[in-house]
Amino acid sequence: MAMLFSLILLLVNLQKIVCHIEKDLPLLLISFDGFRWDYLSRTDTPNFDRIIKNGVTAKQGIKSVFVTNTLPNHWSLVTGLYTESHGVLDNYIKDPRISKAFLPKYKDANYQNDPRYYDDGAEPIWVANQLQKQGRSGSVMWWGSENPVKWVRPTYQMPYNDAISSSEKVDTMIQWLTGEYPVNLGLVYFPEPDHTAHMSGPESADVTEQISIADSIVGYLLDKLEKKGLLDDINIIITSDHGFTNVSASRLIQLESIVSSSDYELLTESPVASIFPVDGQLESVYSKLKANATSADSHFKVYKAEEIPERFHYKNHPRRVPPIIAIADLGYSFVSNTSREFTLAGSHGYDNDYQDMHPFFVAMGPSFRQGFSVDTFNTVDVYPLMCHLLHLKPAPNNGSMEVVALLLRENEENTMWTFGTYILVLITTASVGSVFSVAACRQHRYLKRKIIQLKLSPAQATIKYSLPGKGGVQASLLSAEDDEDEDDFDDANDGDNILEIVSKR
Ligand SMILES: [Zn+2]
Repeated sequence: MAMLFSLILLLVNLQKIVCHIEKDLPLLLISFDGFRWDYLSRTDTPNFDRIIKNGVTAKQGIKSVFVTNTLPNHWSLVTGLYTESHGVLDNYIKDPRISKAFLPKYKDANYQNDPRYYDDGAEPIWVANQLQKQGRSGSVMWWGSENPVKWVRPTYQMPYNDAISSSEKVDTMIQWLTGEYPVNLGLVYFPEPDHTAHMSGPESADVTEQISIADSIVGYLLDKLEKKGLLDDINIIITSDHGFTNVSASRLIQLESIVSSSDYELLTESPVASIFPVDGQLESVYSKLKANATSADSHFKVYKAEEIPERFHYKNHPRRVPPIIAIADLGYSFVSNTSREFTLAGSHGYDNDYQDMHPFFVAMGPSFRQGFSVDTFNTVDVYPLMCHLLHLKPAPNNGSMEVVALLLRENEENTMWTFGTYILVLITTASVGSVFSVAACRQHRYLKRKIIQLKLSPAQATIKYSLPGKGGVQASLLSAEDDEDEDDFDDANDGDNILEIVSKR
């Protein structure tokens, strides 16, 4: 009976797990630009708190990719690749095979980039979602999603436009999630608190206010999802591209005082200066920068392309790596034109080993554990996590499931399943063992008595088991009159085997 009960319990659990694995839930990926890992401790954030309480978080944030800028990290989130593998090395890119210059949308929302800047071997998740399982994807201003990759764009798109409000963005996504042909993958981009942190500094009251506004946007989204009856059936990941740090006009590195601006083209300025020396000037430009970088009061490092540390996962792109890069120390800024006033109070883009450069991560939904946290993981791990949630075969990527798998409820279930199974096996074994022990004791007592009744010496009696109906003397040895322990015997022999005593005489 106990075994039957255990078996039923195991089958019920198995069915629950299989149902959970097979259920296809929509996934929402949201980015608040420049939302540093520790911003949630700055002010009251009841809606983010709700997500953390009912979902998961990375306590130390996640490790962004180098360069810790907006475009590279948004592309890494959706491809799981480091910059050297997806080709979007920084907010500005140069490729000798593409003559049309690259321009980020925040410079000119109407400018159309050559799609080859993005279609460079990486496969954003909406491609797999639409090609592998005929899913539908919707992108609200996600960086790079306006460019076809492998001829695929997201099914629905809201193009980059600074004038569109946050609530309009949420409303659009809700429409896409609940329409006649709903999306199963949605991506939404919000440009704050990045913009404010650049202007006022990451520690400013203005940024604290932006954190509260972000929390209200999340509240608005959760409320809409709840009203549509979707909140219990959707997985939501909210994260960011990079962190932030303070900069000031007192910590500037004047590039032009080190090397003449006529000797190089500067593609990106700070904190990573991408330097393209004019023909014949590579060694000269490099040696001047190197001499300065190694002086006692220097606040930057300089590398030729081949010298860039492997840990940046930046140097191995076949065409786009600048011949020289200079990287400012945390809080310092390169400036190339001394006549221009330096007005920034906050920045990012530094070495991704700096904790300040790491963004936050929270997630909630039926697939995530409740109130669970890990310390940290990598931005590139988000892609395999999302593929897992959508049951997609991931494209080759640099991410790992090692840490992010811990965030999943199925992992918790599997752990409970293993533990539960162990306990059930223990209980079943103990129960069966007890029954046999009791039976053996009773049989032993009964046989001892019979041997005494038959006046057999121990040497004259043997005990053996036989199947019913195979003959033997068992019937003659058992009768209601001569055995007060008949019930004991019957109980003890209530199985397939019965006991038989055979006289050797
Ligand atoms: Zn950004």
